Amino acid sequence: MADCIFCKIAAKEIPSTPVYEDDTVIAFKDLEPQAPVHVLIIPKKHIRSLLGLTEEDKAVIAHIHVDVVGRLARELGIAEKGFRLVANTGEEGGQTVGHLHFHLLGGRSMAWPPG
Ligand code: 5GP
Ligand code: ZN
Repeated sequence: MADCIFCKIAAKEIPSTPVYEDDTVIAFKDLEPQAPVHVLIIPKKHIRSLLGLTEEDKAVIAHIHVDVVGRLARELGIAEKGFRLVANTGEEGGQTVGHLHFHLLGGRSMAWPPG
């Protein structure tokens, strides 16, 4: 989608630091990390948020959760102590980029509830 920064990252039109990529998903380091490990996992397809998901997106969402999150957590060294997976959604949810993304955060203790 034109003017979507994460579509441009997926298309390699703007640079990022990828840590995982396949046909439907890319994961890259967050520009402003909020933890020692902070990566963003996105479907390459433009989906505006969790609320933009349709039936045809079930496979990629399952793929992210079944195959990518655990693999990345192990590779990035945060599986053993634990981590957090977050999908900020909408204005009050703190979403600032309108392309569905999952924050994978780890390497420090996390507070609950989040601010
Ligand atoms: P949100 O606030 O929408 O949940 O998360 C958006 C995230 O994208 C933020 O953590 C922000 O630091 C990150 N971000 C915004 N623009 C860029 C960019 O151009 N490159 C990378 N790697 N991360 C970005
Ligand atoms: Zn997009």
